[in-house]
Amino acid sequence: MPRDPAPRPKTLRHVRDLADHGLAAPADLPQLEQVAAQFAVAVTPSMVDLIDPTDPNDPVARQFLPDARELDIRDEELADPIGDDPFTPVKGIVHRYKDRVLLKPVHACPVYCRFCFRREMVGPGSDALNAEELDAAIAYIAGNPEIWEVILTGGDPMILSPRRMAEIIGRLNDIPHLGLVRIHTRVPVVDPARVDADMVAALKGPRIPTWVVLHSNHWREFGEEGRAAIARLVDAGIPMLGQSVLMRGVNDDVETLTRTFRTMISNRIKPYHLNHGDLAKGTSHFRTTVAEGRALMKGLRGDVSGLCQPTYILDIPGGHGKVPLTDSYLTPVGEGEWIVEDPRGGKRPYRG
Ligand SMILES: *Cc1c(COP(=O)(O)O)cnc(C)c1O
Ligand code: SF4
Repeated sequence: MPRDPAPRPKTLRHVRDLADHGLAAPADLPQLEQVAAQFAVAVTPSMVDLIDPTDPNDPVARQFLPDARELDIRDEELADPIGDDPFTPVKGIVHRYKDRVLLKPVHACPVYCRFCFRREMVGPGSDALNAEELDAAIAYIAGNPEIWEVILTGGDPMILSPRRMAEIIGRLNDIPHLGLVRIHTRVPVVDPARVDADMVAALKGPRIPTWVVLHSNHWREFGEEGRAAIARLVDAGIPMLGQSVLMRGVNDDVETLTRTFRTMISNRIKPYHLNHGDLAKGTSHFRTTVAEGRALMKGLRGDVSGLCQPTYILDIPGGHGKVPLTDSYLTPVGEGEWIVEDPRGGKRPYRG
């Protein structure tokens, strides 16, 4: 008789679990409990395996282990940093740009990133769309022929079961004016076992392509299982892009960025956006200045392959949209003070 497989190690969700694994100092627990009461904690076994507990600057640990500095909430930080709320015509949809919408079927993630710009909305208790809400969201898309692309995000949509993923992708493929489904996810690196044959099959729509945008910030996130999961997607014909967040103490140097983008390209992922840190609550210790980010982008240009160059992007607070942080969109007006031109030509002051 076959023996039961060994139980898979569990995701760590409590500060005391982190301490048991040597990932939190007992003296810090009271403060970390306070952090965890505000912002959800989850570290998958795959990420625990990649953390070197002896390295105080471990870039994987910094992204997932709660930190007392998250209790420092600044006046300029916002609950809805990129202003999704005013662009939500029905629950689960964000329609800010004419030709594309976000569809957020779930608000949970396999990991909770300490810098998350949706940290006020994501978490294990946050509700997913129920059947009627999903019907209404899909009806909104079907009723708006200007929409060409649907971007599944959340939360992390790849925590859906393959059956539910296939159902959503299938329903989107039935809408004749759609040309593309895009999925923003961290799953292939943080929880690679979810990318099984059923999930790969679920992602492939019958009519229109599905592109997968992997959110990853450091080459150290690419473990052996993660690389294999990415290969399963790309081998199946699913094109992949990379999205990263620029973060102090994680990836804010030319060497780390170069190696991170080269790692993406080696895994057949084209670096797409490098996002400037959003004004999410309790994330000031991660934010670089715009000037620092621009200098890093200049440092990449020239001696690093053009394939390894993402666009450095600011999502202008207040829902004004994303723009590249290049001279044509930026006017310096003082030390750390800018006027940013939004996609519709509006002038927006930005400090940072
Ligand atoms: C970021 C975002 C998109 C995608 O923008 P791209 O520039 O196409 O990557 C779409 N809709 C909303 C509301 C967004 O915030
Ligand atoms: S996976 Fe994305 S949505 Fe989820 S916590 Fe991380 S950054 Fe936020």
